[in-house]
Amino acid sequence: MKPALKKHSALEIDEGQHLLRSFNGDPAGPTLIVVGSIHGNEPAGVLALRRIADELDGLSSKLRGRVYFLAGNTRAINKGLRFIDHDLNRAWTRRNLSPRGSEHVETTSEGHELRELDSLIDSILVTAKSEVYIMDLHSTSATGQPFATVGDTLRNRSFAMGFGVTILLGIEEQLEGTMLEHFNNLGAVTLGFEGGSHDSPETVENHRALVWLGLVNSGILTAADVPDLKQMAARLTATSKGMRIVEVRHREAIRPEDNFEMNPGFNNFDRITEGQTLAKNRSGEIRAVESGMILMPLYQKLGEDGFFIGRSVAPFWLWLSAVMRRLRVQNILRYLPGVRVDPDDSETLYLNTGLARFFPLQVSHLLGFRKRRFQDRELVVSRRRFDLFGPFTNRS
Ligand SMILES: [Zn+2]
Repeated sequence: MKPALKKHSALEIDEGQHLLRSFNGDPAGPTLIVVGSIHGNEPAGVLALRRIADELDGLSSKLRGRVYFLAGNTRAINKGLRFIDHDLNRAWTRRNLSPRGSEHVETTSEGHELRELDSLIDSILVTAKSEVYIMDLHSTSATGQPFATVGDTLRNRSFAMGFGVTILLGIEEQLEGTMLEHFNNLGAVTLGFEGGSHDSPETVENHRALVWLGLVNSGILTAADVPDLKQMAARLTATSKGMRIVEVRHREAIRPEDNFEMNPGFNNFDRITEGQTLAKNRSGEIRAVESGMILMPLYQKLGEDGFFIGRSVAPFWLWLSAVMRRLRVQNILRYLPGVRVDPDDSETLYLNTGLARFFPLQVSHLLGFRKRRFQDRELVVSRRRFDLFGPFTNRS
């Protein structure tokens, strides 16, 4: 039986017609791809992109790059549902995207969506001659403060810093199969954005401001080309309430059979203390493993993430980690005794237990190793490729 989801205002969109509009100002310039409504119950993304496309018509002679506005889950958007068979923003796994694909991909609605979107975006990437930026517009069921989600590369960070919104660093690495994770691994600079609640006109305005700023920050337009850029930048900065960067430290993974239930009353970025009861499941109460802020508490029925715990990051740590990564300190690690490099992935390291003690979470994060797990008494850590440079620039 299909899960019953709350129905939101559906938009008219043709099945499989992902390309809303494109503008080819300068084929040698940067590329900006913006995806809206990859969750079909989040209409604000497509609504904002349609509006910006109309507004951009008058500026097309000024564009110094390529712009593509895409609709995400077309079949689900039509029905106002988050998805039809499964979450399209968890489907971008290596297995699903392999040439053979998986049965999953052949037989489900989101399988078609995945194939269509992937081949469309690939066709844009292969013709890129300069940096590629991909932004993904989302909204939330509860009202709350907008924020950007950023995978931890120095290129992503420096792009994200230009929007004035609160940045949630390291969330992409905690989730399996997101679209941005996939294109980040292919070398694009990526930015996810939660613009506000699903059906609020404010959310459309926040998305609109973000995309206009993205056009300027990617170098496709100059600030002088956009008449109300100052107001839009001020709108986004005001949403952050002075909170700039929050780092994800813990993910509460859940399975359907756990009967996970979040305690009522939590909002995004609420302060919590270690040991505080946050939720319950069939084994009992779930308490905070550390003090910090609660992030993305799950109040809808479906999902694999109960909540996350994060903490503010001081600018000093960001500066220090940028310096260390530019010096490529992480490359020294692989020559230490007790460390082996994964033969299939040069950015994944195996550390023996003796060494793992000297490699706590904070040091991992400094060097960009956001994925950490213990396996057969070894600590396995991975970082992203394309931290400092992308693959698209200066391609002939
Ligand atoms: Zn979403």
